[in-house]
Amino acid sequence: MPSNTKPKTKGETPKIPRGMRDLMGDTFYAYQGLAERAAEIALYYGFTAIETPMLEAESLFTRAIGEATDIVDKEMYTLKTRGGDRLALRPEGTAPVMRAYFDNGLQTQPQPVMLYYSGPFFRHDSPQRGRYRQFYQFGLEIIGTGKSIAEAMIIKTFTLILGEVGLDNLHVEINSIGDKECRPAYRRELAAYYRKHHKNLCADCRERLKTNPLRLLDCKNPACQQIKQGAPTPVSYLCAACKKHFKEVLEYLETMGVTYEINHQLVRGLDYYSRTVFEIVDRAPGEDTPLALAGGGRYDYLARALGSRKDLPAVGGAIGLDRVLSAPGIKTINPRLIKKPKIFFIQLSFEAKLHSFEVIEILRRARVPIAQSLSKDSLSAQLGMAERLGVPYALILGQKEALEGTVILRNMSTRSQDTIKIDHLAENLKNLK
Ligand code: AMP
Repeated sequence: MPSNTKPKTKGETPKIPRGMRDLMGDTFYAYQGLAERAAEIALYYGFTAIETPMLEAESLFTRAIGEATDIVDKEMYTLKTRGGDRLALRPEGTAPVMRAYFDNGLQTQPQPVMLYYSGPFFRHDSPQRGRYRQFYQFGLEIIGTGKSIAEAMIIKTFTLILGEVGLDNLHVEINSIGDKECRPAYRRELAAYYRKHHKNLCADCRERLKTNPLRLLDCKNPACQQIKQGAPTPVSYLCAACKKHFKEVLEYLETMGVTYEINHQLVRGLDYYSRTVFEIVDRAPGEDTPLALAGGGRYDYLARALGSRKDLPAVGGAIGLDRVLSAPGIKTINPRLIKKPKIFFIQLSFEAKLHSFEVIEILRRARVPIAQSLSKDSLSAQLGMAERLGVPYALILGQKEALEGTVILRNMSTRSQDTIKIDHLAENLKNLK
């Protein structure tokens, strides 16, 4: 473009990256409330908190999740540090928790170790409904047991959390993809079946057929979906031990009152899964293409993939908080810490503003949250703000009050006012409704 057609500017204001959002106000509190409630339920079920860093070694994910998966091949945000280390923004939580388990010597604690976490995760996927590049998960992991109750415990806890926020059209879809004894035979059969349909497969699936045939069942391409209908299913190839395990998981779920459907084509894309895999879907009326709200499974071979000399049985999963919060019929939960302002603190004159910190501190100690305007000086402007915000009381500190050591407490709905000595303010606050 010729230089004279474009006015000289300092350049465009930098914009938020695609697929990312700023969370503020009620939306922020809805995330916080949900994560708090989920943590509370997890704590009652015996899980304890863990927080791992957002950046990890890139190799943690390439080894754990496996090459030839979308996450590792296409979706990871990676970077090279000045020191030459290759790091990745975490795309999921299970591999970091397993790394932390070894790094912190958790194998020396009574097993299994039950952990919960929540926070942001990052995948460079194409943004669309229910899919962001920075999204939030609440996850549970039970590390150190091969017992089938662990799967049932995770699924049950997830359904409780989702039920707590009013989602009651939940469908648990579950499947077993076998273990290292029985999966190779299934994989061979699956590959043989798909080879027969080679010419009708999408380009990605032709590649999957070579590198990771199980992932063929994950393809969303309509032509491949059709082929999938006739594909062999893993359950028919389970060895006796896997069959028994799967039956037990289902029995636990039935006893716990969790309804489920066996989805014979559910495999989930990550290499580390073994035996049980599951997803929880909300099928609210009017929702044509329901999105998975949560997913997970058993991952008995992950520890070995990360360098452990022994297999370490484990199971886990994660709820997608963004999708939960945009589900129809969601009941928002207020976080504990954040309270709506009860008092609008009006300060008139420089003299009053000098004393304002003293008053705010009395209010903070009495646990009364406030709103205030630092820039407005007139009484009517500040009362107008208090009204707009719907704050029930105003506390007015003018020059006269500042000199006398008093404040005026105004009930915003009745407009009645009382003058109170600052020394007695704390006691008077106890009577506020
Ligand atoms: P996954 O780690 O892929 O098993 O995902 C677990 C859950 O996280 C899914 O069921 C979704 O609810 C949610 N989730 C996964 N990827 C995204 C994303 N890109 N944006 C929003 N939510 C996601």
